Amino acid sequence: MTVNQTIQCLAPAGMARPVGMVVPRVPDTIFFARFNPSPTKRETNMNKTDRDARFRQIRDKVESGQRLSMDDGIFLYDPEVPLQDVGQLANLVRERKNGNVAYYNINTHLNPTNVCVYRCRFCAFRSDLRDPKGYAMSDEQILQRGREATENGCTEMHIVGGLHHQKPYEWYRDLIALLKDNFPKIHLKAWTAVEINWFEFQTKKSKQWVLDDMRSAGLGSMPGGGAEIFHPEVRDQLCEHKANTHEWLQIHQAAHELGIRTNCTMLYGHVEQAYHRIDHLMRLRELQDITGGFQVFIPLAFHPDNTKLDNLKKPSALMDLRTVAISRLMLDNVQHIKAYWIMLGIPTAQTALAYGADDIDGTVRHELIYHDAGATTPQCLSVDDIRGLITEAGREPVERDTVYHRVHRSETDFRDWHSGQPVDDAVAVS
Ligand code: SF4
Repeated sequence: MTVNQTIQCLAPAGMARPVGMVVPRVPDTIFFARFNPSPTKRETNMNKTDRDARFRQIRDKVESGQRLSMDDGIFLYDPEVPLQDVGQLANLVRERKNGNVAYYNINTHLNPTNVCVYRCRFCAFRSDLRDPKGYAMSDEQILQRGREATENGCTEMHIVGGLHHQKPYEWYRDLIALLKDNFPKIHLKAWTAVEINWFEFQTKKSKQWVLDDMRSAGLGSMPGGGAEIFHPEVRDQLCEHKANTHEWLQIHQAAHELGIRTNCTMLYGHVEQAYHRIDHLMRLRELQDITGGFQVFIPLAFHPDNTKLDNLKKPSALMDLRTVAISRLMLDNVQHIKAYWIMLGIPTAQTALAYGADDIDGTVRHELIYHDAGATTPQCLSVDDIRGLITEAGREPVERDTVYHRVHRSETDFRDWHSGQPVDDAVAVS
């Protein structure tokens, strides 16, 4: 692709750029190590007067709808900047974009295998093939998950797992087709960019070919995992072998160009610093400016148990809330911010709904990845539970499907549902 080629923009309804508008294609190299600020760039040793003045500048920018800079974001991570001030500012943007509602869905997870060729230092989920913990699900086990999901009224199956060196590409593709053929109504949100990159390696085909082939099999959208921290100072310490930043962003860009919506994430609270986090958010923001294909950003709190980084503490609730709020403020072009209750814990996820988040993820069944890493949250919430915790936080619960359409259910049979209008048509958007 060259600078002069163009792509289709997928900006969500209500955003400044209409769907279908053609925008210039950027060079493929634009995302790689573009931002490399020195830690000394942090605005340290400010006195309170200067800090208050600096915060007022940022508040003015947010109130007038201006975009925040990298330095603004780094400043907001300064622990001397009161968290509640950052949260109030994020809440302003949250309510401007999404009103008073908080979204949830009814979903289940499927991790077809935990056997993985990689050894990411933050991962407690992976296994070697001969380890007693290692598994790969049979077709019957996968079908059973589909039946259970249908019985429980799930609209979505979230499918990610390990990169099993003895499973060919066709195994991954065929399990998507198996589920789609048997449970056509369930949306399959499947495979991170790291997995798509592995499939490229397996098939020796392009990312576009892999994505298109998976879509033909039944893939509906992609989750945002595998992003971790983009900055090479951190990524090279955590997961030097798997898809790099450039590849991750290029795969999401390719998906957006094909009309496949994706999510995006950031794993924080381990060895990174504030400027690595802001660098990460800015790279996502830059791609979103080009494609508009990200639906939601999910900040993922690191859990150290059973990982190679188990000497670290998990981030505090205050860091979780600050990260949710700063994400909301920096990602002015991403419609939704998710407080993933599995990782944050329920009280922090509820509080995050006043700190920039407008989505709390789903009821979730069969979550393994973060429970292996020490998450103490329940394995599943009932619909009443999740609606109750949103209501208790002062927000209006709204069930959405994976691509953010309102879900309507029969009053007589909970399992009878259909998707309605896009949720973003119903709220004021800045
Ligand atoms: S994070 Fe994913 S790619 Fe890395 S070791 Fe774990 S399962 Fe494998």
